[in-house]
Amino acid sequence: METKPIDGKAFAAGLRARIADEVAALKRDHGLTPGLAVVLVGEDPASQVYVRNKAAQTAEAGMASFEHKLPVDTAEADLLALVARLNADPAVHGILVQLPLPAHMDATKVIAALDPAKDVDGFHVVNAGRLAVGLDALVPCTPLGCVMLLKHHLGKLAGLNAVVVGRSNIVGKPAAQLLLREDCTVTIAHSRTRDLPGVCRQADILIAAVGRPEMVRGDWIKPGATVIDVGINRIPKDDGKTRLVGDVAYQEAQGIAGLITPVPGGVGPMTIACLLQNTLTAARRQAGV
Ligand code: NDP
Repeated sequence: METKPIDGKAFAAGLRARIADEVAALKRDHGLTPGLAVVLVGEDPASQVYVRNKAAQTAEAGMASFEHKLPVDTAEADLLALVARLNADPAVHGILVQLPLPAHMDATKVIAALDPAKDVDGFHVVNAGRLAVGLDALVPCTPLGCVMLLKHHLGKLAGLNAVVVGRSNIVGKPAAQLLLREDCTVTIAHSRTRDLPGVCRQADILIAAVGRPEMVRGDWIKPGATVIDVGINRIPKDDGKTRLVGDVAYQEAQGIAGLITPVPGGVGPMTIACLLQNTLTAARRQAGV
């Protein structure tokens, strides 16, 4: 069987172009410019790259981008005060506090302080709860991107067996909720799952969100299954540099999976595109248009 790669980079570029068109129409018809505030505390190099990319792509989509960079020793109370100001600012429709936060800050408390209507990461318990009970919610960007790719390539997902490996609040659990909303039969696997390879072999749709390089082997994959690899793992090369690999052994999956997302170039580019989508959704809902 031929295994086809899912080109997340191209799909994300198309999605960003559609969002830019919708932003232009919102400005023209309603005088509304969606605004995204990104808050970065400290100097974590990976977070700095993410924040830079988010700001650039926000501006490219025609949205207003507000960057707030705070020193690593910022008091939690000062971060909470900034969040309160952004909650009250009518030019800001989406707020993203880049994680991880420094150790002296409580991320749960900071996320709880966000206005759920502006929580474009979809991490607030109100949004998690709304997703769980089937109401409109701002949905975490990475799983939203995974399900968009699945629907684009497979059409209707109803009745398919979906196995999600990983149960984090930012990927695994919301991915499972979204697949349930699409009428999949959903299994959530994790570090205590018995016979993980056997569980994975039941999957028509296999989502790996674990953070362990190439943990999912070729013979864990049901022939013809669609594999979505969320993992981003940096592993050392002989020349001292690093390379990115996913949670799935990509080469072993060739000839077994029907469709698979590569790493990089699969799920990764969808995350920022979905952040822009959430910001657009949040702006529309706040303005009532
Ligand atoms: P977490 O560390 O929060 O969660 C990992 C999950 O994997 C946990 O539920 C854990 O189970 C499970 N797990 C760990 N080891 C095993 C094992 N041996 N067998 C089965 N399950 C296991 O990670 P995240 O969800 O935040 O991220 C997962 C991966 O996705 C990472 O590589 C991350 O970098 C990547 N990622 C990529 C994004 C993108 O934009 N493409 C965005 C976000 C994350 P348990 O709960 O039992 O401990």
